[in-house]
Amino acid sequence: MIELLDLSRFCATTPDRANLLLPWSEGDHTYASDGRIIVRVPRIPQVPTNPDAPSLLPHRNCFTDDGDPATPMPALATPEQKPCEHCQGHEDGCEKCDFIGYFTPITRIRFDTKGFADCYLHLINTLPNPQIYPKPRMLPAPMYFTFTGGDGLLMPMKPE
Ligand SMILES: [Zn+2]
Repeated sequence: MIELLDLSRFCATTPDRANLLLPWSEGDHTYASDGRIIVRVPRIPQVPTNPDAPSLLPHRNCFTDDGDPATPMPALATPEQKPCEHCQGHEDGCEKCDFIGYFTPITRIRFDTKGFADCYLHLINTLPNPQIYPKPRMLPAPMYFTFTGGDGLLMPMKPE
């Protein structure tokens, strides 16, 4: 069972996604998303609805493995933090690095023609018993994934 505290790791952290800063409930589920990844678990009663949350309708039919077997999670390199080139690690007022002074370069992980950001695969890997279904030929559909206690979707990166 994924707890509320865990769900918050999937929420947005920046003001441009103010409607996604907290998990929200809708129907039978409680959701958390930063706009690129979304996870859902059975509805947690104390998590309220959010009228400003994005509509889930376009993705309703994506929450399925289509009967496909899971794809093995690829080997992922340990992410390396690098000093921000814009502020050289001096974070005062630097929006390029979200004021933290460093950034973590994103590696594109490919499944056929489809690419996903490695930072999100790392995040999925922190869930209990993660299983991924990238469905590489279904462009630009998100990757479906499951874990013990819930499931989710990950948007592909824009084509190069
Ligand atoms: Zn910076």
